[in-house]
Amino acid sequence: MKALVYNGPRDVQIKEVPEAKIEKPTDVLVKITSTNICGSDLHMYEGRTNVEVGKVLGHENLGEVVEVGKAVEKIKMGDMVCLPFNISCGHCKNCERGLTGFCLTANPGTAGAAYGYAGMGPYNGGQAEYLRVPYADFNCLKLPEDARDKEADYVMLSDIFPTGWHATELAGLQPGESVVIYGCGPVGLMAAHSAMIKGASKVMIVDRHPDRLRLAEKICAIPIDDSKEEHVEKIMELTNGEGADRGCECVGYQCHDPAGHEVPNMTMNDLVKSVRPTGGIGVVGVFMPEDPGAADELAKHGKIAFDFGKFFEKGLHMGTGQANVKAYNRYLRDLIHQERAKPSWIVSHELALDEAADGYKHFDARDKGWTKVILHPGM
Ligand code: NAD
Ligand code: ZN
Repeated sequence: MKALVYNGPRDVQIKEVPEAKIEKPTDVLVKITSTNICGSDLHMYEGRTNVEVGKVLGHENLGEVVEVGKAVEKIKMGDMVCLPFNISCGHCKNCERGLTGFCLTANPGTAGAAYGYAGMGPYNGGQAEYLRVPYADFNCLKLPEDARDKEADYVMLSDIFPTGWHATELAGLQPGESVVIYGCGPVGLMAAHSAMIKGASKVMIVDRHPDRLRLAEKICAIPIDDSKEEHVEKIMELTNGEGADRGCECVGYQCHDPAGHEVPNMTMNDLVKSVRPTGGIGVVGVFMPEDPGAADELAKHGKIAFDFGKFFEKGLHMGTGQANVKAYNRYLRDLIHQERAKPSWIVSHELALDEAADGYKHFDARDKGWTKVILHPGM
């Protein structure tokens, strides 16, 4: 089958790879119809991980079930399903408590499993014609009869819509509160969308790409361009000098300088400054514990540091980590079905799988207008 494979830093290629197939009786096989490129893929693409050459990437997947393992009971041939990016067993201590991003079985000894991702188990990704889905009864989210019509919305349930929602949950956002979001990429935009749905009184979002900030403005978020204005001051001004009730980190580890390796701990300090005393911070941006390309910088800066003294003084709290997609995706699916949520508003490009390398190149460069790319293997 055809799939997108990692071939080295900033080098991904469409290649013929062995067919995905059912390996355990609890698996199903899904024919992928939509699969997104994610900001998380860029950590591998830019060479910040130890992902192996030849790995099939893609963890934001949706498609049709075309084969069902003997022990699968709830999922049937022909079902349209969206797959949470976390692969989880459903029965371990963490899964039973809804913490499926930290399943103790699917990738033992680590902090969870995912499709097509460095360090997250032996599972291939779905930027391919077919995908093997383990623990299928647990890991498939069945979609309603409008699955085909709203495919660009439903595919966001695999990751970024629940992840944006998770950022607001980790921050403790309540109706009527204000929130500042650092990062206006797909995840930050989904955090803004979630905050609006939850009834935030004021949603401020910080970035430097005017096209992305304009998108945020469309849903009535207040854009703050940190290349043009002092963002912490602006947030203080917008919140009567108090600071935002809640803050979301939707940037993570970023290397803006293609030649250098900047250690991007600034957003954490910005959040500590701009959230009011006793407020909450939700961190979903991914901070890589090890960056093979930046070992010297990480050693120099003592890993990824932030002002813990100020964090303590203000009595802030913080939640971090991968989103437990399953904890939210059924409810967010129903919001989409009822047209109370429409995450596809951020989609800028829908490409054939064959055009994936081009999609990675433009999305990685944050080229104007390239906000979110969906790949269609069948197109
Ligand atoms: P993205 O890289 O397209 O978006 C990040 C945005 O942050 C960009 O628009 C960039 O200009 C902006 N930015 C960079 N430095 C900034 C700064 N100092 N202040 C404000 N904005 C800044 O990617 P994305 O798809 O939106 O993903 C964002 C992060 O979320 C990534 O780290 C990704 O790995 C992570 N992520 C986490 C989860 C999870 O489960 N926790 C899931 C999906 C993605
Ligand atoms: Zn993702």
